Amino acid sequence: MTENSALVVFSGGQDSTTCLFWAKKNFEKVFAICFDYGQRHITEIQAAKNIAKMANIDLRTMQIPFINQLTHNALTDIHIKMDEKKTANSLPNTFVQGRNLFFLSIAAVYARESGAKNIVTGVSQTDFSGYPDCRDTFIRSLNATLNLALEEQFIIHTPLMWLNKAQTWQLADELGVFDIVKNFSLTCYNGITGDGCGNCPACKLRSAGLKIYRESKNEL
Ligand code: ZN
Repeated sequence: MTENSALVVFSGGQDSTTCLFWAKKNFEKVFAICFDYGQRHITEIQAAKNIAKMANIDLRTMQIPFINQLTHNALTDIHIKMDEKKTANSLPNTFVQGRNLFFLSIAAVYARESGAKNIVTGVSQTDFSGYPDCRDTFIRSLNATLNLALEEQFIIHTPLMWLNKAQTWQLADELGVFDIVKNFSLTCYNGITGDGCGNCPACKLRSAGLKIYRESKNEL
């Protein structure tokens, strides 16, 4: 296992793009894996490929269509209208059950095959939706489980865990990749790269964070 090698779980979105460049700054060898699980918009995979090329990173795309066969959610089923936000007792229907559990487990096997000790993911507990598999406790627990399962000493890095969207923009800026993240990443649930459609929950969250970051910068 190489201490200085890292695998990034990459989707081409704002968060994982920022993490990709964070990893490039912190590790000598960086490569990435992205998952095709039947998202509504295949442009998401294309955005990931474009950014990986710009970053000069090897990107492996894994097909995991079984996620679609297991659960119904608004990210993969075009007949479901997306929830705007979390309701009192339930998760929004944009939640893909078990997604990070599957992603990180598959990533760990691939990391082991490739000799990487470090795995980087853009999950954030500060995330508005409260997805349970984005929480720090879950990541720590899974890290321990994967180490036991594969008899390795992986370190799962979550540079965005305690950052809000404005702070994630700030991090991208500090890494010198603000424009790449802004123009080429894809967060929009309607599949529009960069600033997106402006109306879906992901676009609203992204642009609200950007506005706050820009305002804070002007005040300095
Ligand atoms: Zn949108």
